[in-house]
Amino acid sequence: MSRLNGKTALVTGASRGIGRACALALAREGATVAVNYQSNEQRAKEVADEITALGVDVLLVRADIGVADEARAMVKKVIDAWGKLDVLVNNAGITRDKSLRKLDDESWLQVIQTNLNGCFFVTSAAIPGMVERNFGRIINISSMNGQIAAYGQANYSASKGGVIAFTKTAALELAKSNITVNTVAPGFTETDMFSGIPEKIQEQIKQRIPMGRFGSPEEIAKAVVFLAADGDYITGQQINVNGGAYM
Ligand code: NAP
Repeated sequence: MSRLNGKTALVTGASRGIGRACALALAREGATVAVNYQSNEQRAKEVADEITALGVDVLLVRADIGVADEARAMVKKVIDAWGKLDVLVNNAGITRDKSLRKLDDESWLQVIQTNLNGCFFVTSAAIPGMVERNFGRIINISSMNGQIAAYGQANYSASKGGVIAFTKTAALELAKSNITVNTVAPGFTETDMFSGIPEKIQEQIKQRIPMGRFGSPEEIAKAVVFLAADGDYITGQQINVNGGAYM
């Protein structure tokens, strides 16, 4: 039996990478899934088609989650379409890597705006309906690099560390409404974001991973589905999916 039959889900940044894998994995468990993207309409449509082929409802929602009005309109669109939002996966994220000495204001602000402020905008729009129905599963995708030092990623680390802290307070405040809030913290995962890292550096990184390989988006999605489907009494926690790279 599918574990998420009758549930509705929204995955931000679901046109590619980890978000795409989460959207498909949730759909395979029977959830109807809203696929958010920012600009890559073609890739988002392909994900939507794959979900339709699984026999579940899908909604395509374009929005820049870093723009408050767009983020909130997106959540409203999902609730208007399906009457409720049960599972929210705050996945969309960006990098603008530069060493701290070269880090310009724009690169700092863009990353914080998308990764941290965007997570707040979407979550705050989703909460009232969840509270009203006394049910919600919110899963925020943070990062191993929000837990440890990461050269060239002061902006990104700060945003992901912020997501972890935000998750804990949200979990505390929402627990009495049967809304769980957790983070999944991927290590290095093979996506477009990761392929931006030069090959030589990728090899050096791999050597530091105890399991000797990078993660796949599908392996991150498994943790997300677990929290959505079976994490009834888990809140304010973090699941590290990183091949042992940070213990
Ligand atoms: P990716 O392959 O670069 O995909 C990013 C996704 O986010 C795309 O769907 C993109 O949409 C969307 N997006 C970007 N900015 C957006 C915005 N402002 N509004 C709405 N959507 C936006 O990234 P990924 O590697 O799958 O990463 C997904 C999440 O995992 C991110 O939060 C990332 O920080 C985190 N993470 C990744 C790794 C890794 O090694 N890959 C490790 C740890 C954590 P478009 O296609 O329309 O551009």
